[in-house]
Amino acid sequence: MDKFLLRKNSSSRTDDEEPSTSVTKNLKKIVKRKYDEDYIKYGFWRCGDETAPRPQCIICGDQLSNESMEPSKLKRHLYSSHPSCANKDKQYFKRCLE
Ligand SMILES: [Zn+2]
Repeated sequence: MDKFLLRKNSSSRTDDEEPSTSVTKNLKKIVKRKYDEDYIKYGFWRCGDETAPRPQCIICGDQLSNESMEPSKLKRHLYSSHPSCANKDKQYFKRCLE
C-alpha cells in the first residue's frame, strides 16, 4: 500500500518583471562650473579663463577639466594621487602656492 503525498511548493513568487519605463530625456545642459575659494582645501587652484575656469592641482600641477570642478572629483584626485596631503588644510596649500 503506497501513499503518495504530493506536496505543492506554494511559495509565493512574484515573478512579474516590470520594465522601468522611465523616459530619460536627453537634456544636455552645458554648465560651466565656477571655482570656489573652498576648493583650495582639496589642493586645487583656479586656472584657465574666467568663463571656463579649470581646477589645477597645486601639488602636481595637473589641470583637470571644467567638468571636474566639483568637490568629489577634486577630492578623488587628492586622495588617490597625493594621499600624504589628504589631511593638509587650506593654509598648507596656500603656502604651497606662494
Ligand atoms: Zn595632483
